[in-house]
Amino acid sequence: MAEATLTQSRRSTGEGIPKFNYLIALPQPENHLFEVALHIQNYSLPLLDLKLPVWTPGSYLVREYAKHLQEFSATAGDKPLKWRKITKNHWQIATKEPEITICYRIFAHELSVRTNHLDATHGYFNGAALFLRVPEFDQQPISVTIVPPYPDWHITTPLPAAQQENTFIAADFDTLVDSPFEIGKQQIYQFETLGKAHELAIWGGKSNIEPERAIADIKKIIEVEAKMFGGLPYDRYLFLLHLSAQGNGGLEHKYSCSLNYPRFGFRAKDKYDRFMQLVAHEFFHLWNVKRIRPKALEVFDYDQENYTPSLWFSEGTTSYYDLLIPLRAGIYDTKAFLQNLGKEITRYQLTPGRLVQPVSESSWDAWIKLYRPDPNSGNSQISYYLKGEMVSLLLDLLIRGRNDNQRSLDDVMLKMWQQFGQEEIGFTPQQLQEVIESVAGIDFTDFFAKYIDGIEELPFDEYLEPFGLQLVGDFEEEAVPHLGIKVNTENGREVIKFVEVGTPAQIAGIDAGDELLAIDGIRVGAGQLSDRLKDYKPNDSVQVTVFHQEELRNYDVTLAAPRPNRYQVKPVKNPTDLQQRNFAAYLGVGFSVFDN
Ligand SMILES: [Zn+2]
Repeated sequence: MAEATLTQSRRSTGEGIPKFNYLIALPQPENHLFEVALHIQNYSLPLLDLKLPVWTPGSYLVREYAKHLQEFSATAGDKPLKWRKITKNHWQIATKEPEITICYRIFAHELSVRTNHLDATHGYFNGAALFLRVPEFDQQPISVTIVPPYPDWHITTPLPAAQQENTFIAADFDTLVDSPFEIGKQQIYQFETLGKAHELAIWGGKSNIEPERAIADIKKIIEVEAKMFGGLPYDRYLFLLHLSAQGNGGLEHKYSCSLNYPRFGFRAKDKYDRFMQLVAHEFFHLWNVKRIRPKALEVFDYDQENYTPSLWFSEGTTSYYDLLIPLRAGIYDTKAFLQNLGKEITRYQLTPGRLVQPVSESSWDAWIKLYRPDPNSGNSQISYYLKGEMVSLLLDLLIRGRNDNQRSLDDVMLKMWQQFGQEEIGFTPQQLQEVIESVAGIDFTDFFAKYIDGIEELPFDEYLEPFGLQLVGDFEEEAVPHLGIKVNTENGREVIKFVEVGTPAQIAGIDAGDELLAIDGIRVGAGQLSDRLKDYKPNDSVQVTVFHQEELRNYDVTLAAPRPNRYQVKPVKNPTDLQQRNFAAYLGVGFSVFDN
């Protein structure tokens, strides 16, 4: 608030507007340090405030990027300028100088889509984690010149190039933050879809990706999503892919996305499909969340948390579509779609926290909970991705069922795009509900109270049944009497990672962090636990031996009845004509798909 007022008063007095140019060098990439120089010209204010964002849009956690900033200095010509730190991410300089240079270095040693990474093979950075902003001039263009360390390293970014070599222009600070840079020997594949230029840039060395095949499928995804939203709102779009050991993540931007995926995750069909889901997800975000934004994200506050209850829609609905879009694009078939849906429902149904935390609260508390799991997370929280996806399934089925499949969640997306996204006007939870209601033609007060702001069990069968589908809970192999712990082998120790609330293990006093040693005196680990439990019956008493804080303890535990550990979406027997019609309208194929 204060910042905006100041800017207005300065503009109205006609004081000069400064120019900003960043020079980024990486002379010794193996040292992981980006050398950053910000040149400011035509500066006329008595104070210069510089702030590094504490988070990046798209990832709702305060990441304290300033912790990686070192050796801050300020000069005017040869003259050093005095500066002081106001807060953890805020530097201030009192100055009468019109030309100022700020220098600092950024340690870049974290390979993720939302942080910076620099080593002997490449440099990658996210604007939020590298660029200081001058808050009063956030709306001014900023040019960025990169100095590659070697002649065969090139630069990839969604930002438009300027005339000067290796220089790019961001229209404002938001655009700068929204434009990742890749510097190195990344492979570049250019392709055109629907008359728009696209680029796939791949870094990471050896892998089993077949770029031509991947591009053919990416094109299908682009076409399916463009059709939903009535075209592509850009001239050029960049897919930036990092191949890594086992990373799996993406970060959406308006004109690009960063993807991190296992280098050998492209041959096996199920892994390849997951990659395409990731592509579909991040690409969908260019509409949903980058342009169709919750009110709290209409204008980003880079200094602190930006609270919204609507991430179930921004992330969860996007997750629902990342399941549907590969189906519509012909990347996987209806059976694979239903299998994938079943896996998501299984994850949901096996999370006790779904009955504790409303999904709107999960969204609000993203900043302190989702990215900061603890041993109680599964018992007390539900991911807004996962429940948002589940709720979106129900919304889609409900809208379709009530409108003879003439309307669907697609129409909600299109309307949200037209009403809010195109102009980038933030939507309130109430406005989102109104759009859903206007598309569906029914009141959603009860639905929102129960499933968005409430914790009622989701009635999957009630919503699936009109489409000839049902949810079947069973066991992956045979039934296992229920103990209620999850165990991981870590450095040769069998560590109990999770104790489910209300289960025999929790009631007996077994703790997350305990080291599992034996059941009834015989050594047991993660690999054998469920097999060993099959030798018992519900209500049998077993002795569980653990180390608790290095202290040997024995617990007498009474096993409970088995619980399903797998949920599958299956066809009903003898579907009616209406069920068959609904099924075909929803999934694009007839019920005969189940014939063999
Ligand atoms: Zn997402």
